[in-house]
Amino acid sequence: MSIKENLNNIVKSIPSGVTLVAVSKTKPNSDLEEAYSQGQRIFGENKVQELVGKYESLPKDIEWHMIGHLQSNKVKYIAPFVSLIHGVDSLKLLKEVNKQGRKNERVIPVLLQMHIAEEDTKFGLDKEELNTILTSISDYENVDLKGLMGMATFTDDTAKIEREFNSLKSIFDAVNNQGDLKLETLSMGMSGDYLLAISCGSNMVRVGSSIFGARNYNP
Ligand SMILES: *Cc1c(COP(=O)(O)O)cnc(C)c1O
Repeated sequence: MSIKENLNNIVKSIPSGVTLVAVSKTKPNSDLEEAYSQGQRIFGENKVQELVGKYESLPKDIEWHMIGHLQSNKVKYIAPFVSLIHGVDSLKLLKEVNKQGRKNERVIPVLLQMHIAEEDTKFGLDKEELNTILTSISDYENVDLKGLMGMATFTDDTAKIEREFNSLKSIFDAVNNQGDLKLETLSMGMSGDYLLAISCGSNMVRVGSSIFGARNYNP
């Protein structure tokens, strides 16, 4: 199937109120243009250099999401234009995003990435680290905390994935119920599990291979 058909099928399967991030990492500009021509405006990339290159060569009304692990020393390259950074997983990185936001005279929207998978290869905060960040979040005026992001364990065990999604949803709800901080966005779900993620409360899904086809490298 073509990108156009894949995209339209996925858009149809997603309830209104859920935002689709088209994950275009490793894919050529022509693939993004095909999705763009169908109306897709939000694209996700996981490498800074590739994100900057695509930003420079593609239409300016695209909203670019940085979905991958981000090193503090690279924030400066995306700070002028990035629409949402999904993977803020340390106070150090948050501080750097704030600093670069200030330099660029803008407020940068971010999600805090939570560690929900059993694998220790995945990045993310635990609840204690989350609470530490939340208590000082108002100090960072050039960061706008929009919500949380998480990645489930890479497994065929649907029950396990569901447990991990539910645990992230309950953290999200707990934050919203405990104070004056209001989180809007819960980013969870990829090609293999986005419908499950939505049923567990996700309102932002990051879908790559089901739109653009399998990738050859860079998973
Ligand atoms: C690559 C990637 C995705 C998309 O994965 P697919 O299985 O191709 O849909 C989603 N989220 C993150 C963080 C990724 O790196």
